[in-house]
Amino acid sequence: MDQNLLNDICLQQLTLSAVHEGETISVLTRGDERAGYANAFMWAAQKLGASTFHMRLPSPASASGAWAVGESGLGTNPVAVDALKQSDMLVDLTFLLFSKEQFAIQDAGTRILTTVEPAPLLARLMPTRELRERVETGAELLAKAGSMRITSPHGTDVTYRLGVYPTISEYGYTDQPGRWDHWPAAFVFTGGADDGVDGTIVLAPGDVLLPFNTYVQTPVTITIEQGFIRDIRGGLDADLLASYIKSFDDPRGYGMSHVGWGLDERAHWHGLTQFGGGMGMELRSFYGNVMFSIGPNNELGGPNDTPCHFDIPMRGCSLYLDDELIVDAGELTVPQMRPAGRR
Ligand code: FE
Repeated sequence: MDQNLLNDICLQQLTLSAVHEGETISVLTRGDERAGYANAFMWAAQKLGASTFHMRLPSPASASGAWAVGESGLGTNPVAVDALKQSDMLVDLTFLLFSKEQFAIQDAGTRILTTVEPAPLLARLMPTRELRERVETGAELLAKAGSMRITSPHGTDVTYRLGVYPTISEYGYTDQPGRWDHWPAAFVFTGGADDGVDGTIVLAPGDVLLPFNTYVQTPVTITIEQGFIRDIRGGLDADLLASYIKSFDDPRGYGMSHVGWGLDERAHWHGLTQFGGGMGMELRSFYGNVMFSIGPNNELGGPNDTPCHFDIPMRGCSLYLDDELIVDAGELTVPQMRPAGRR
């Protein structure tokens, strides 16, 4: 993307994130990645009267090729962590999520915005205050629920016992101290109790396996008991999923992670065909998807910090909170969660 356009969308972003005079905005990168993004965020921060600096970490010493979350590159660098803690807002261009260091920086009151997706996607899914309100409506409903049940025409019927872990909203910008968000995003999630997820999930053709960044082609039947996957059955997709989890040699890789639904009608289900190089935020956000996840729940304050993590957005599911229908075969039932033209 042209640097002027990138500057412009980063200015829109930092304006939504309430960056102002007197604040210090830190920008974190690794190796040679996203230098243009760093320049654009620093330009925008200055434009809004804030101070800013760019912290550049060395490239990872080894790359396993797997998407192992939680390795921030800051674990042995307390001086760097301290500097980031002292900034008002950190623009994370490295994906710190799930690392101890991210949580420590948030605990210090620094708000964090992660930005790693392709620039054209950042522009197309620019956050809005209206979308934030709709996401927050969803988060309020989810936060007071005691249980979640997900069903699908393909045979999914799974129940999560809720109430143990907090509800998290992602709407693509952040203006509150200590709050993390990811640009772009529009979804809500929480996690089931550690031993409180039971039932069957059947992945259908077109459901999305992140981080494989592929669409499921053949049904995958996943059996879950007391919060852990006990069986994965099906064709090639099932074999790939099972083989990948097994490769971590970690029983906690079979745990059930976050669960929730997406709200952005501008996000395309077919997004992987355009932005296969990204992390799949468009797929996590598309309107009416129900996303469940496998692996760690430390993001929610839970004990599971396995590096093995899947996010799996599914189409056409229904989702109930305490027996109240919230997502009806991929359509949101609550008017305040729908876009203005669809109420
Ligand atoms: Fe996830």
